[in-house]
Amino acid sequence: MKIVIIGSGYVGLVSAACFAKIGHNVICVDANPSVVSMINSGLSPIHEKGLPEILGEAVSSGSLKATNDLSSAIINADISMISVGTPFSNGSIDLNYITVAAEQLAKVLHMAAKYHVVCVKSTVIPGTTRDIVSPILTKYSNRELGVSLGVSMNPEFLSEGSAIDDFMQPDRIIIGAQDDLTVRLMSDLYSYFKDTDTIVTSLNSAEMIKYTSNALLATLISFSNEIANLSEDIDGVDAVDVLNAVHLDRRLSPLLLNERISPGILSFLYPGTGYGGSCFPKDTKALISYSKTMGHNMNLLRSVVETNVKQPSLTVGLARKELGKLDGKRVGILGLAFKPGTDDVRETPAKHIIELLIKENAQILAHDPIAIENMRENTHHLDVEYSDDLNYVTANVDIIILVTSWPEYKKLHQIPGVSDMPIIDGRRYLNPKNFKKYRGIGRSTSLDQKLEKL
Ligand code: NAD
Repeated sequence: MKIVIIGSGYVGLVSAACFAKIGHNVICVDANPSVVSMINSGLSPIHEKGLPEILGEAVSSGSLKATNDLSSAIINADISMISVGTPFSNGSIDLNYITVAAEQLAKVLHMAAKYHVVCVKSTVIPGTTRDIVSPILTKYSNRELGVSLGVSMNPEFLSEGSAIDDFMQPDRIIIGAQDDLTVRLMSDLYSYFKDTDTIVTSLNSAEMIKYTSNALLATLISFSNEIANLSEDIDGVDAVDVLNAVHLDRRLSPLLLNERISPGILSFLYPGTGYGGSCFPKDTKALISYSKTMGHNMNLLRSVVETNVKQPSLTVGLARKELGKLDGKRVGILGLAFKPGTDDVRETPAKHIIELLIKENAQILAHDPIAIENMRENTHHLDVEYSDDLNYVTANVDIIILVTSWPEYKKLHQIPGVSDMPIIDGRRYLNPKNFKKYRGIGRSTSLDQKLEKL
């Protein structure tokens, strides 16, 4: 099939490269000229494992190209996908990128295939595709819904850091649509994944499925953090032991032929500095704000957000407890990306932690293997020294706060001098036994004192 993908960010570009890999002809359209020229040179503008390889292959075989000219891209296309950003701003989801893309698309639709499907892949609140995108499409094109135009909502569930695998081995495919021909064309698009569970549903349900998924995962994280924050204050309790034991409930990790299955969802039932990234923070808030327009309050989800907002200051609190005061202290931040495997720093807990530390007059020396440039661009206002040399950072600070669980930090204790330094483990990623002054989210300090006495 010939498909056009509008927006070549984390979702658009990964989808484009994977659709090309499974045999489709893909044109990426992006408003950013440097993104377009990088893609056409076979280079990935984002860091994502496996993407440079499949992107390079697709570009050199001619099955994928990029442009900023939507009108040339759309000629004879069967499906166009909108995968532009949907940020949260001024108290609700900002659909501006979606409406602009829909209008641009509608105005060139006369050049597309006889029956053309416009599919929204971005995460949008219920009603967006049916009540906002569809009317824009019919208003500015000469096409009639169900006659020469179909609309679909096809949420994306990939996670940064494992995006290619997630796309190529999807948990499920959701096709929201309101007519049979659109369902057929969308099913053809995904026919390569014939064994994957596919749910064909209404446009609004498809939109709601994505929010519900993200709300559940965010809830598990905040639940774990609430348990961790209490555990930290209880004599001798470690939330990691508590939660690891909870994981062993066979309804969470079943025993199959006497072998324990450990589902990926358990990684969300773990203490830390809170969730970040381009999805959970904005999607939880957008759902709450949408629910308000429907006369609902979503008290549980409000608490999820509230707990998450507190995690960075609790992490800084651990550093304060260790050093007495932070004024003039040199703090090493290990990890800037919101999670390992990506260079994405949107809503990263590292940023909130750094801001709080700077407020207390601490000096910041920050390390990340790949996200330093993105962090610099996003935090011009912050006085931070960055270095990609882990030895340099650890040798020049009074305390270390681990914020992202990059694999290179696993052996932190082997760097000379580090095992004697105060360490705040914001991800419960390190072995406390390897450090003399270890504090971790959810770990009672009395526990370390008792271990020392034993
Ligand atoms: P992104 O910010 O990385 O990329 C968006 C791209 O769209 C940018 O390159 C921008 O230049 C381009 N763009 C904006 N308006 C345009 C227009 N009119 N024409 C052409 N290009 C345009 O965004 P993302 O992280 O890929 O997220 C896209 C959507 O997917 C969001 O709704 C997000 O919530 C959702 N989503 C993201 C992830 C993720 O892990 N990042 C996962 C699932 C779903």
